[in-house]
Amino acid sequence: MEKTLSIIKPDAVARNITGKVNDRLETVGLKIVAQKKLLLTKAQVEKFYEIHKDKAFYDSICEYMSSGPVVVQVLAGPDAVEVNRKAMGATNPANAEVGSIRRDFGESIERNVVHGSDSNENAVKEIAFFFSGIEIIE
Ligand code: ADP
Ligand code: MG
Repeated sequence: MEKTLSIIKPDAVARNITGKVNDRLETVGLKIVAQKKLLLTKAQVEKFYEIHKDKAFYDSICEYMSSGPVVVQVLAGPDAVEVNRKAMGATNPANAEVGSIRRDFGESIERNVVHGSDSNENAVKEIAFFFSGIEIIE
C-alpha cells in the first residue's frame, strides 16, 4: 500500500464540496486513512510550498491557502500517488481531463480544488508535515 498527501483547498471547503471530492477519491479505490480540517497560517503554507518560493505565484498561493479552512488527508492504495494525480487532473482545470476533480470542480489555475503529492519522496515528506504516525489508521 502506497500513501500520498491530499489537501482539499479553501475554495472547495468554502463551497461545501468536500464530500463530492472524497467520493471521487474513494471511487478510484483510494482509502482515506487520515483526515483533519485545519486553518493554516500563511507562515505554515509558505513552509509547505517552499519548493515554489521562486515562482511568480508563490505569494498568491500562500495567501489563498491560508484564506480559509482546508481538509488535509492521507490517501492509501496501490500506486496512490499516481492514482490520486490522475483523479485530480492537470493543474489548470481548463486543461484537465474530462471527469477529473479539477476539470469538474476547479474555478481557476490557483483555485483548483485539491493538492496531491507529485512523487513518493514528496508524499513521505508532506505526510510527515501534517500527521504523526498514530493519526494514520490503515
Ligand atoms: P500541482 O498542484 O498540479 O502539483 P504545482 O505544484 O505546479 O501544481 O503548483 C502548486 C499550486 O500552485 C497549484 O495547484 C495551483 O493552486 C498554484 N499554481 C500553479 N501554477 C499557477 C499559476 N500559473 N498561477 C496561479 N497559481 C498557480
Ligand atoms: Mg505540485
